Amino acid sequence: MTRGPHWEQAPDRDQKPELNLFGTDPLSEDAEPTLDTVIVGGRIPVGERFEEAAIGIRDGRIAAIGSDAALDRHARARIDARGLWILPGAIDGHTHMEAPAFGAQSADSFESGTAAAAAGGVTSIIDFTLGTPEIPLGRQIDLRRQQATDAMVDVALHAEIVTSEQARLEEIRSAVRAGVSSFKHYMIYGERVDHGALLKSFRAIAAAGATAMVHAEDQEVVEAATKQLRRCLPQGMMSLPRSRPTASEAVAVSVLVCLAELTGAHVHVAHVSTAAAVNLIAAAKRRGVAISAETCPHYLLLDEEVYKSENGRQFSVVPPLRTAADNAALWDALSCGAIDTVVTDHCPFPRSAKDRPPDPLQAPCGLPGVETMLSLVFSFGVRTSRISLSRFVSCVSSRPAQLFGLSPTKGSLQIGADADLTLFDPHAAWVIEAGALHMNVDFSPFEGWKLVGKTRSTLVRGRPVFRDGEVLAAPGWGRFTPRHTNRDVPKKETP
Ligand SMILES: [Zn+2]
Repeated sequence: MTRGPHWEQAPDRDQKPELNLFGTDPLSEDAEPTLDTVIVGGRIPVGERFEEAAIGIRDGRIAAIGSDAALDRHARARIDARGLWILPGAIDGHTHMEAPAFGAQSADSFESGTAAAAAGGVTSIIDFTLGTPEIPLGRQIDLRRQQATDAMVDVALHAEIVTSEQARLEEIRSAVRAGVSSFKHYMIYGERVDHGALLKSFRAIAAAGATAMVHAEDQEVVEAATKQLRRCLPQGMMSLPRSRPTASEAVAVSVLVCLAELTGAHVHVAHVSTAAAVNLIAAAKRRGVAISAETCPHYLLLDEEVYKSENGRQFSVVPPLRTAADNAALWDALSCGAIDTVVTDHCPFPRSAKDRPPDPLQAPCGLPGVETMLSLVFSFGVRTSRISLSRFVSCVSSRPAQLFGLSPTKGSLQIGADADLTLFDPHAAWVIEAGALHMNVDFSPFEGWKLVGKTRSTLVRGRPVFRDGEVLAAPGWGRFTPRHTNRDVPKKETP
């Protein structure tokens, strides 16, 4: 790109900035430095291509996009991004930092988990309140925000709805006003809300213009499959996928499609793992149902065969890992947009916690992922041509921002957007080793995997939080990001 820079006053946060990469307002030749930082020598995504462009940052926001020569002389500091892609920072829409789960506590605090996020090019996470039936939603949000004060990247929250209590449903509007505009339900576990309660909750959520997020596994199907297994010989870790068969997800998703259609609520299906669920979601989308979906790197890249290995119980996760055919269907769905986003469901436990229970099925379920997501999706999605470059940028950044009310402040390279940027080296070859990562856990499900593509540097609101292997952010630099509602979420992806 060689034309002159575009330059304008950063708009108010609530105003949608115009995307204009090729504006022609020239900067004055002899102007004083008016940018805090300029990133030169890199390339930015424009559709399916990358184009040379410099990015100027002022007051934590993108203030100019233009040529290196035009912007360089206006900046107080410069970052050399030669050979690197400048991506809108990745947004991990599903994490569980320092959260109680399965009788244990996930191993990453907000501090260590967001340090790992920074190292992996993730500039925002969306975590969860700790749903409690007796505590008002507003209080739950405050408590979780206090826990997250040491974060190094920005943090937003989904609120867990773990009860059909009318009082909690009446608090949905005030939670939305507090910047929490999506509400997570479980169709399984002790926190389960039944179909009647889902219906009531979806109506309240639709009225507030918010999003209903759901963990979709059908309790009755799982119970029947588990009972059946008890009559068979012990099957070790293979009991996990067999006790939670494909039908458990498909039945749950079919209920969600029905309830989404009846209530008009935007329903977001968490961590989709099966081809059967993908087909139901794709068909519902074609009919115009307001439904969206996410999957995780482990459902794209691992299958149930790992449960037969010596290390099998380290891979315990729910929904469980599926088959190679499911992997392939998920990639296809990600490619065409039937699945909107990739998230990690980051919920790590140390090896010792998974090894401790005598019954492998009692091992706490959850996997680490926030630090490796971007490189895995690039390496095994883009480089293998399973997904396009534009889908890559979309599924890890712009689409989660659109779906969850962070756009256009997050998830875009637009004038006025937060300068949340990932400087990504598409040629760097590296090998995943749990011991070399920043996550507070001694296991990676991708240990020893060879990747190409690595985050070199990460900026959150203009400040470098990670550079060349080193986390630079001070705990507390990350801040709570209030989200708006989905009233203007495009059903289909917008570029
Ligand atoms: Zn989760």
